[in-house]
Amino acid sequence: MTVAQAPSIDWTAVRADFPVLTREVHGKPLIYFDSANTGQKPAAVIEAVDDFYRHHNANVSRAVHALGSEATEAYEGARAKLARFLNVRVEELVLCSGTTFAINLVAYSWALPRLRPGDAIVLTRMEHHANIVPWQLVAQRTGATIKVAEIDERGQLDLNQLYALLTPEVKLLALTHVSNVLGTVNPVREICREARKRGIATLVDGSQAAPHRPLDIAAIGCDFYAITGHKMSGPTGTGALWARREHLDAMPPFIGGGEMIKEVRFEGTVFADGPRKFEAGTPNIAGFVGLGAAVDYLSALGMAHIDAHEQALLAYANEALSQVPGLRIFGQAQEKAAVISFLVEGAHAHDLATLLDLEGVAIRSGHHCAHPLMQHFGVPATCRASLAFYNTHDEIDAFVAALNKVRKLLA
Ligand code: PMP
Repeated sequence: MTVAQAPSIDWTAVRADFPVLTREVHGKPLIYFDSANTGQKPAAVIEAVDDFYRHHNANVSRAVHALGSEATEAYEGARAKLARFLNVRVEELVLCSGTTFAINLVAYSWALPRLRPGDAIVLTRMEHHANIVPWQLVAQRTGATIKVAEIDERGQLDLNQLYALLTPEVKLLALTHVSNVLGTVNPVREICREARKRGIATLVDGSQAAPHRPLDIAAIGCDFYAITGHKMSGPTGTGALWARREHLDAMPPFIGGGEMIKEVRFEGTVFADGPRKFEAGTPNIAGFVGLGAAVDYLSALGMAHIDAHEQALLAYANEALSQVPGLRIFGQAQEKAAVISFLVEGAHAHDLATLLDLEGVAIRSGHHCAHPLMQHFGVPATCRASLAFYNTHDEIDAFVAALNKVRKLLA
């Protein structure tokens, strides 16, 4: 991972930007270790949404009045900010409700008309259900099959096995950039290069990458890249699909309605060009204004600094957790985001998470929308502590102390 030293950033002051982090839960200070599920929002984002509704609220692209132009400018401004953040062109960035929508858009508009019986889609063992189920639906309707790239004992992709799967009948490789369960950072640049050499299109699920590390989608060399705003300090119901322009031009619309047309006649409709063809209906305007503010906020901190700080927290947490008797960590990839899945011998994941909640610690327990990964490990659920730049070393100490306390209660 990129390591950048940022002695100038006062992370305590950064944390103070997040109002919810000052609250108490069950009489204890909240320790929010569930950022892989959804990220907390800084005041700048909350205020941007508030300001939009108070002073600028109107629909986009329709009205010529002042508020209408302000709303359109703010919404398109957010697209431009996000495009800069991801290093892509605005004409290639479809705004949508999040990764789930983005992947379904590719499944229905790109894959469904294209795949034939005998074709194959390659997925990996560590995919989120959002990057599995849409492909199963497409496979059922087209007669295509799904092949799975497996992982090694550290939770890293077996690249030799993956490349051996990339045979001529494979039309698409869809994989996550960063695992939401194991934290594994996949070498997507190298993998997409190998797929491209073989004429295979690639979709990268960037849900867990965009909030944590500098992103340069152009350099990855994929065909599609999906992100979700709510994990990157933005509002829920915001996200984007980046796609190469030639794909966007060739893809039929997914959802029809207003905003996505040039002209509608009963004889037929001429669709809008570029991303707008896929943006039917009134979008989450205020949400995207908030996402624009989130992108400004993250950019001001610097993604390389965020990455370095989170890596320091991860190293500290790993060290502290290694002292907890009976604790097993799932996923020890060489390159890893600050996501720690674990189980403690003799304790059920949900019991641990419930008791930790009483100590003020919010972690997630369950299958993390990754059943095939749970099946691989032979467990129904794990606990997952997922960190973000607003977390602290003191919180990790308090978490480990709480874990030791509840572990004894469950023993
Ligand atoms: N992929 C991954 C890797 C995720 O972690 C998530 C969210 N948990 C999703 C997809 C789904 O994203 P969204 O919340 O935008 O539907």
